[in-house]
Amino acid sequence: MLQSAADQSAIPRNIIILLGGPGAGKGTQAKAITSEFGIPHISTGQILRSEASAGTPLGLRAKAAMEAGELVGDDLVNTLVAQRIVKEDCQAGFVLDGYPRDIRQAVTFEEGLSIADRQIVLDIAVDLEKVIPRLTARRTCGTCGSIYHLTTSPPRQPGLCDRCNRSLVQRSDDREEVIRERFKAYADWTEPLIDFYRRKGIYFEVDGMQAPAQVAGDIRRILEQEISAAAQGPRLQAREGIC
Ligand code: AMP
Repeated sequence: MLQSAADQSAIPRNIIILLGGPGAGKGTQAKAITSEFGIPHISTGQILRSEASAGTPLGLRAKAAMEAGELVGDDLVNTLVAQRIVKEDCQAGFVLDGYPRDIRQAVTFEEGLSIADRQIVLDIAVDLEKVIPRLTARRTCGTCGSIYHLTTSPPRQPGLCDRCNRSLVQRSDDREEVIRERFKAYADWTEPLIDFYRRKGIYFEVDGMQAPAQVAGDIRRILEQEISAAAQGPRLQAREGIC
């Protein structure tokens, strides 16, 4: 099924994979990359939340796991991503936020890529205890996905989105006990990906405890350097590193 993505990929795509625990600011940084490099942001968490709130069969299947801070089944998420990345806006590349979540997903994803595709993995590293206040004060627009923070970037009118004037909500998984569970899932499942990608020479760590603009600056430098280095000659990603 993922093979269809490879078949359609005649031109090299820049595939930016964002790693980082809950509250690392992946959504914020993904939006910055999108506006700077003109490639879409694909957040599996955001897609799943929209499906769950729309009450679709897929959303209902995902809902219980999401509310407990656990991972949703691989088949469901792999299919969701495979269907999204064959859309026209992904032809030059895309930013993945929240996927792959573990080595199994990473392997499945890679099997569907073409040899010309370029993966760049950015890990936004954060400290759990410092991130909890960031997350419990986070509010999201249920309509356009804009993100606010009650103290550092509040909306102009309390409870309403600056962009679309709709209500802001607290994600049900942004409660402290669920955040700790999500961190545990991250440590158990996603951290092993660091080594997986490091061995391929496509892994870059960024200090996520800096101000968002500094994080964005670090990311921009890495991407410019990697994308221009690749433009000067093919740089095949080591595929032999797969488990
Ligand atoms: P996020 O917005 O990335 O923190 O994701 C929110 C929730 O969606 C997670 O806690 C999981 O329940 C689910 N989810 C998102 N992406 C994935 C994935 N790649 N694999 C499994 N579950 C996921």
